Order: sequence, then structure tokens, then C-alpha cells
Amino acid sequence: YRGPVCKFCRREGEKLFLKGERCFSPKCSFERRGYAPGQHGKGSQFRRKRESDYTRQLRAKQKARRVYGVFERQFRRYYEVSLGRRGLTGLNLLQILESRLDNVVFRLGYADSRPQARLMVTHGHFQVNGRRTDVPSMLLEPGDTVTVREGSRSHTYFKELPDFAENKAVPAWLNRDLKGLSGSVIRLPERSEIDGNLSEQSIVEYYSR
Ligand code: SF4
Repeated sequence: YRGPVCKFCRREGEKLFLKGERCFSPKCSFERRGYAPGQHGKGSQFRRKRESDYTRQLRAKQKARRVYGVFERQFRRYYEVSLGRRGLTGLNLLQILESRLDNVVFRLGYADSRPQARLMVTHGHFQVNGRRTDVPSMLLEPGDTVTVREGSRSHTYFKELPDFAENKAVPAWLNRDLKGLSGSVIRLPERSEIDGNLSEQSIVEYYSR
């Protein structure tokens, strides 16, 4: 998806942080126009709508899709995989989304946003377990390592990366080596380590209708 993304925040009624630094600046579209996009969007903030179960489930699913930048078909596939895994389906689904390569690059602090991380991966700047990859949807497992490719290290962005990534916190399920411009997956994230605003229960309800 290459179109405007700020409208997704306005549609979901909250900031989804899809644009890196801009999301924290006064330029943020949600700060300036915090109502739904479209012709009737402005009026909708004053109308009190009674939300049906379906709407709640649909919005929960759409929000998660947009946060992780996943198309519907792939998202449904993730749901089916999570159904087949042991444990809670909703948590399994979130863990699959979190273990995507683009998300891991973002979580390691090597990109300002998931869309930026995705772009960097598709441009071939990263290696997984020593092999170059340009597939942002690649699912990582505990023990996998992500490294900035040797040929990319001379780029100004990666030269300056250790300085600006230093202040970014890394979740406990990942290990980061800033000097080596690499990171590894220690284990799958626990629920408390994933965005609390996502409602995996509603997503499961949506797909099991
Ligand atoms: Fe959402 Fe960021 Fe755009 Fe603000 S700047 S509306 S948080 S994507």
C-alpha cells in the first residue's frame, strides 16, 4: 500500500504511529484533524453512534492490519496459522505479527516506523542468519539474527544509526547489538510486551463469525 496513511489514524480514532517522527510533531494529521476522513467525517465526531458487535470486531481487525501493514489475505492466513498453533489464538496471531522481519527491524530501533522498516528490508539492507533477504513478511523465530548488510554500512543512515537508535528502548524478547548493527530474537513476545490497544479477542471473534 503506497497511498496516504494518516487517514487510517483518523478512521480508527487514534494515532497508529505510521510515519515516524512526524507522528510526534504538530504536523501530525490526527492532531490537526482528529475526525474520520471523508465527506461526513467531521460530523461523525459529534454523532454518538451505537457500535454493533460486528463494527467493533471489524475495526479491531482493521486497526491491527494497519498497524502492521498487512493486506487482508495475508492477515487471514496468519489467523489460520494461529488457529493451528497451541495456546490462545489471539495471542498466537499477535506473536506472528510481531515476529515479521519488518516489525523486528522496527522494534530494534533501526527504523522510525514499520513502513520505513519495510522499505529498508525491501531495499535489501538486512541479512537474516547471514543471508540477504528482501522479504518484510519473513517470520523470525527464537535464535534468528538480523544484521545490517555489509554493503549497506557505508550509507550515512547506517553510519548515524547507533547514535539515534541508542535512545530507543528494545523489548525484552529481542537482543540488540548497536555496535554490530545487529539484533536477535530471544523468544516470542508476551502479551504485555505487545501494543495494549490491540484487541485480539475481537479479531478472533471477527474471523470465527
Ligand atoms: Fe497517524 Fe502519524 Fe499520520 Fe499522525 S502523523 S495521523 S500518528 S500516521
